[in-house]
Amino acid sequence: MAEREFVITADQVFDGHKVLPRHAVVTRDDRIVAVVPAEQAGGGGRRIDIRGTVLPGFIDLHAHVLLDRTPTQTVLRHGVTTVRDTGGPLVAPSGGDGRLRVLAAGPILTAVGGYPVPVFGPDAALQVLDAKTARAAVRRSAEGGAALIKIGLEPGGSTGAPWSAHAGTAVPPWPLPAAEVVSAVVAEAHANGLGVAAHLSGAAGAELALDAGVDEWAHVPCDPLPDELIKRAAAAGVRVVGTLDTLSRTTGVFTNAVRLVEAGVRLLYGTDLAHPDVPWGIDAFELQLMQHVGRGTVSAAEVLSAATARAGEHLGLAPLGRLVAGAPADLIAVEGDPLERFKLLEYPVLVMSGGRLVVDPPAGG
Ligand SMILES: [Zn+2]
Repeated sequence: MAEREFVITADQVFDGHKVLPRHAVVTRDDRIVAVVPAEQAGGGGRRIDIRGTVLPGFIDLHAHVLLDRTPTQTVLRHGVTTVRDTGGPLVAPSGGDGRLRVLAAGPILTAVGGYPVPVFGPDAALQVLDAKTARAAVRRSAEGGAALIKIGLEPGGSTGAPWSAHAGTAVPPWPLPAAEVVSAVVAEAHANGLGVAAHLSGAAGAELALDAGVDEWAHVPCDPLPDELIKRAAAAGVRVVGTLDTLSRTTGVFTNAVRLVEAGVRLLYGTDLAHPDVPWGIDAFELQLMQHVGRGTVSAAEVLSAATARAGEHLGLAPLGRLVAGAPADLIAVEGDPLERFKLLEYPVLVMSGGRLVVDPPAGG
């Protein structure tokens, strides 16, 4: 018998894409070795039967746990097994072994005095003057283990946005990087095998990002965007992370999200975890809003996929985020059917990270 081996049976298994009734997930050491109908599950490992649903551990694509010093084990115990830290201290990838898996962007590249300097101070930013210093900054981040490059394209002033609520030291508009600087960041990041995510809230940032070929919008923009920019983003295949919950008091986030989804963009899951209004774990309200903005076209399974299988693919770490043989043994279990009721996901009865139980179900559960 391997050192750590588990046979976890459940009423249903959500594998990252679809529901498999009465299945089992078999793990050995840090990997999943089989996902099979429950009656076929063999092996000598510890057997756990879940009256409910087993799912992949959730992946939050927009977090700031390092900058915020959010207790990472609390996040893990509440169902999020991987976070992508999109602005904060630069660290190499870590965790996934009973600890929260953390992939980091490091400090946000920005214009001198640009966002996030007015909100979080200079430590959260790499202020770049020109294309040459921008390229050098990207290379330093890549050498330090960055999993992506984040750039700030934020003039400030959006009503209801979390970054407008701080008692800022500088009155908007905050400076934006020049177009040639954004292009240089994208070119250098791609040359280093990294994607670029932009913090942007409105048309000025979106236009800069689209012109430069930025891969991802780290938020659904919160000021109403012109139709032309929505169409351009969809045509360019820009990836868009929701953060709908934390932006829910802004004027434009829902109209933008509805139109992006109508134009064919499939939102990815991210919450801005570390913001005071979102939970330290899975955010059921974020999932509910992701389905809501689909206006009947987005299923519950598609929403869960955006936080699991599609998120793992987006990170370039597939099959992370799926329950298939060969995937990392990052999984959670909840009572009942979370496809009917997302709220259940905030209260996992089992959490496993890299084959290690972090939340152990009660005996007999
Ligand atoms: Zn953020």
